[in-house]
Formats: sequence, C-alpha cells, structure tokens
Amino acid sequence: MTDERKNLAGLSRAELAAEVAAMGEKPFRAKQLWHWIYHQGETDFQRMTTLATPLRARLAETHRVTRPGVAEVQTSEDRTRKWLVRFDDGQEAETVYIPEDDRGAVCISSQVGCTLTCTFCRTGTQRMVRNLSAAEIVGQFMLARDSYGEWPTPTDGGRLISNIVMMGMGEPLLNYENVAEALKIIMDNEGIALSKRRITLSTSGIVPMMARCGEELGVNLAVSLHAVTDELRDVLVPINRKHPIDELMAACRAYPGANNARRITFEYVMLKDVNDSPADARELIRLVRDTPAKFNLIPFNAWPGAPYECSSGNAMRRFADILNDGGYSAPIRVPRGRDILAACGQLKSASVRPPRSAAAAQPASV
Ligand code: SAH
Ligand code: SF4
Repeated sequence: MTDERKNLAGLSRAELAAEVAAMGEKPFRAKQLWHWIYHQGETDFQRMTTLATPLRARLAETHRVTRPGVAEVQTSEDRTRKWLVRFDDGQEAETVYIPEDDRGAVCISSQVGCTLTCTFCRTGTQRMVRNLSAAEIVGQFMLARDSYGEWPTPTDGGRLISNIVMMGMGEPLLNYENVAEALKIIMDNEGIALSKRRITLSTSGIVPMMARCGEELGVNLAVSLHAVTDELRDVLVPINRKHPIDELMAACRAYPGANNARRITFEYVMLKDVNDSPADARELIRLVRDTPAKFNLIPFNAWPGAPYECSSGNAMRRFADILNDGGYSAPIRVPRGRDILAACGQLKSASVRPPRSAAAAQPASV
C-alpha cells in the first residue's frame, strides 16, 4: 500500500512554509518543523514536542517524514557502505559512504542513470530514466545519517559524515535546479548545516552551468577531464563534442570562488595505454597553467564488459611524479568499496540502456 500522506523530508523552506500555511498554521511552525526535520532528524510527529499536541495529530494524518526506501545495503571489507535506494515510484539509484579515520564523505546520486555515455563509466551503460528531485537528493544524505546515528546535527565539528561529493550516478549539472535546491537545504545553518567548503560537485563539463553553480552554491568543483586532446576526449567523454576542452578550461578559469586556496580538482581516470603516457602528463600541466588546479588520478575501476584496463602502478606513479614535479598535487585515489562495486564509475541500478547502436538512434537529450 502506498502512503498517500505528503512527505515533509526534503522540502525547502518555502515549500515547508506553504504546507504550514495551507493548514492554517502560523509561519513560526514551519521554522519549528525545519528544526525537527533537519537538525534533530526526527521522523515521528509525536516526538516533536515544541508543536502543539493537536497539530502533531493533524500532521500525522496528512503528512509524514520519511526517507527513500532502501532495497539493499552492503558494507565493504574496507567499511565503505553502499545503499541501493528505491524511490517512491520504484526507480533506484545508489548512494555510497566512504569512511576515513575521523570523518567521511557520502557520495550522492543526482539522476537515475545518466544521459551521457562516457565509455569508461558503468552508469553510462544504463538508460537515463529521470532526474532525482531535490527531496530525493536530500533523502540520500538523511538515510546515510540515520544509518550512522548522526542526529541531531553534531555541533562540535566532529562528524562521521563530514563531506558530500556529488559523484554518484548522473550528471549533476544536467539536473541543476534540483541539485541546487537540495544543496541549499543541506547547507542551511539551522538544519544539516554542512558548509559549502565540505561539498564537492563533479561535472563531466557542462560548461553553460558552471558559472551559476559557483555563484549560487559556491561549492568546490571537480571536473572530469580524463584526456588532453579533443580527439580522445570526444571518445571518452562524448559531451566534449559539444563543449570542447578549450571552452571547458575557460569556464574553469572563470569559476567563481576558485583560487589558490580553493583549487579546482581535475579528475583523470587512468586507462592503460589510452591516456597515461608521460607526454599526456606534460600536456595536462600545460592545459591548467592559468587555472588554480589540483589533480585526482583515479585508477580505472573495471566492471563487467568494460572496454578498458587500469594503468599499471608504475605508469600511474610516473604520471603523478610528472604532475608533482610541475608543482601540482596529484594523489592517486585509493579505490574504495571495489568488492561491492561501490567504487567510482561502478554504480548502476536496474535500468539498462539498449546497446550503443540502438541508443545512438535515439534523440540526443542534452
Ligand atoms: N557525472 C559526473 C559525476 C559522477 S562520476 C562526472 O562525470 O563528473 C564521478 C567520477 O568517477 C568522474 O570523474 C567519473 O569520470 C569517474 N569515473 C566514471 N567511471 C569510472 C571508472 N570505471 N573508474 C574510475 N573512475 C570512473
Ligand atoms: Fe554520466 Fe559522469 Fe558516468 Fe559520464 S562519468 S556517464 S557524466 S555519470
């Protein structure tokens, strides 16, 4: 049986105010609800003790505070945890928590599938089904917090879930409105209160949306570069045909808020004999010379049927050394949660894209 009551979890301040007004209640009730939902993490109206008792009863009849469903949870031998999240319409996406010693990042999906078809990415083999709503994006964060008992919002700074990376399934800048609304809810100081400095949004290079993202959200930007020539990038990251490298780099130079203290991260997946030569590394340095930049080298994570192999350890170290010698930070990302297919580029849910030839016949959706 589906629960027809309206879910308040994931609503923005304006939406919550509208719900409260429609019930004939005073505006301060919306502020109280906000505190219960996003600071306390409370899901039971009866325990929202600052609300008048009759209001609690009325709310419980017409509204609910719930998380998206969880179809499956897996925890890796390295403690990385992955949720297969099932939304109210039955669509699914994955959320991952990557713990470090005294903190951790939750990796959130922005779409079910992805319209883009990066050839090394497992999500790219999947059919794009739909954008996630702001509430579904916030809901992923909230269920991760439930899972670690991290309510109310810790105020002493020490949080297990201390960071967010918008690096799950989907291209966040192709669902900008909902992603922005979700991140504004998450950054609100009277609720979850996560600082923009602790949020990183990764894009494959949706150039026209980058400036807005910097101005309105001010979050850290990561750019999936992966190749130094348009010829190769056109293949690996096909959106490059629309927004080639020189346009992308210009948008990076102009990214609001980027400076030497807050650099743009260039992600670079290491593909054996494809993009991992010393000449590629030197060209990379040339490309970013006027941009506040750091690198993140991502060992390619294989998935069933993948057409690439990961570069050798030697090739990756040599590549990193060249970037380091050029004055850039270039850690090789330690793959996390590979045993449960939770690592970068391994996420996928049930919707499967038709073979590429058939997909090519469909109208382009971006
Ligand atoms: N759509 C966004 C964010 C999600 S992907 C983007 O493309 O930036 C997060 C990162 O993982 C991206 O840099 C992506 O290129 C990388 N990635 C995708 N597939 C991968 C794989 N199989 N191995 C390693 N990294 C991968
Ligand atoms: Fe989409 Fe990012 Fe995967 Fe490319 S790498 S297919 S943009 S999720």
